Amino acid sequence: MNKRRNFIKKSILGSVGATSLINCNNSNSEINNNDTAVYPRIISTWNHGVPANKEAWKYLIEGRTGISAIEAGVKIPEADPKIRSVGFGGYPDREGIVTLDACIMDKHNNCGSVSFLQNIKHPISVARLVMEETPHVMLSGKGALDFAVSKGFKKENLLTEASKLDWINWKKQSNYQPVINLENHDTISMLLIDDNTDLFGACTTSGAAWKMHGRVGDSPIIGAGLFLDNDIGAAAATGLGEAVIRTSGSAMVVELMRQGYTPLAACKEIVERISKIHKSGPVWDYLQVGFIAINKKGEYAGYSLRKGFNYAICDSSNQNLLLDAEYAI
Ligand code: ASP
Repeated sequence: MNKRRNFIKKSILGSVGATSLINCNNSNSEINNNDTAVYPRIISTWNHGVPANKEAWKYLIEGRTGISAIEAGVKIPEADPKIRSVGFGGYPDREGIVTLDACIMDKHNNCGSVSFLQNIKHPISVARLVMEETPHVMLSGKGALDFAVSKGFKKENLLTEASKLDWINWKKQSNYQPVINLENHDTISMLLIDDNTDLFGACTTSGAAWKMHGRVGDSPIIGAGLFLDNDIGAAAATGLGEAVIRTSGSAMVVELMRQGYTPLAACKEIVERISKIHKSGPVWDYLQVGFIAINKKGEYAGYSLRKGFNYAICDSSNQNLLLDAEYAI
């Protein structure tokens, strides 16, 4: 029987005011962007994080596990055809085929992932089953699809008329140039700390619109699109996946938090690393990356290379909070 959890709200840092930046150049730098450390708490990327968080929160207050809550949360944008960057209705690759990437991770470092998955509306649920019911972490392409079907998932056409029309229009120029902060990518990444301070994470996307057929981004790659260490914290990414993979972005954010960086300082350091690597390269003009992170106290942050990245928070005092992330340039 579900019992309503007795949520704990802890004020660990006391009131430090909004966004006090002390030092962020060196290790052990101190940036606090939260007045209070609070758990349970859920943070998710972009506008679609708001309804996703709401659903996950509903699961938490029903007493469901963190992994069920996080799966249920990200299934909301996966099922929404108006969101053109995740799941059903997501933009296709340049061949007109919708291919999905997703991963999930729990407090024991168990993880599951699917990449280049087609015709399945909820890749996150398949990723969870990879984690729970196979000896592997990652299944890809036809193997992932066969596994999903063997578990009872229904094959569906994920290409909506609206996305198909946009693809037909795109083909007239056939110019692959992701647009910064526009919904032609915009993964949902969600991090959750429960009332035991246990951490969970999920990431699901249709990837970059008009990508090459077969392209896999950072989102299903543990360490790139998502990483957590239940003793330290969790981090997840959005933006140009290739740039995130090159730096093992999310794993590095968690490692910096292990060294004493706050979530904001850790995200900032990795964004700056990505910036340095790509500055004189071919993707610079359209490069956007954003990270969210949460530590073991429930302190959180979001930070991006360029203006325009936002993320949603849900905790006992904020159910619908959408924050603009700080940014580098
Ligand atoms: N990271 C995703 C990818 O490269 C897209 C995004 O989040 O913007 O596939």
